[in-house]
Amino acid sequence: MQYMKRSANLWPFFAGAALIFLAVSRSTKITSGTVPACYLTEHFSLAEVEHSNEAISHNINNKPPAWALANAVQLAVNVLEPVRNYLGLPLIVNSWYRSPAVNVAVGGSDDSDHMRALAADVTTGNKSTNAAIIRAALALDLPFDQLIIYDSQEAPSRVHLSYEPGQARQQIKFKDASGYTSIDLDAARLFYL
Ligand SMILES: [Zn+2]
Repeated sequence: MQYMKRSANLWPFFAGAALIFLAVSRSTKITSGTVPACYLTEHFSLAEVEHSNEAISHNINNKPPAWALANAVQLAVNVLEPVRNYLGLPLIVNSWYRSPAVNVAVGGSDDSDHMRALAADVTTGNKSTNAAIIRAALALDLPFDQLIIYDSQEAPSRVHLSYEPGQARQQIKFKDASGYTSIDLDAARLFYL
């Protein structure tokens, strides 16, 4: 029975395996012209996982290793894609995977979930609609591990969403210049739903 239950949720692993194959084959081929976009799920691409302004400006390699790509698929399938579909709006990824060097450059914490591609900072592109990201995560009761609201509860500058296989703590925190504040899940539901 245990296996039966788990088997229903296996397709992220197949998608992960396919992505790893694509990533490896891409890196070993000499390509010319337009390289087709490689997608993890319907709306989230490999380019979004590895993109980092900090990596570009410091010329740091930010290519996720195969295991991190498999993690990225899990975050996309379980959290990002449901949020995106609930909103019916594009989600812009500010930061997803961070190589250890990029994490140092951005001043991320030593154990940042971004270093495992299990966290992404997203925005709708407009502060006034970013609270809808939080509303979606709560309304759908998504299995996120941490949700961090940045700078304003009503109009966040961005929202950090993480996924940890087998550990959906649904922790909510608010972060601004004065630091982190924990927000009770029920209080967040009252505020956002
Ligand atoms: Zn983050």
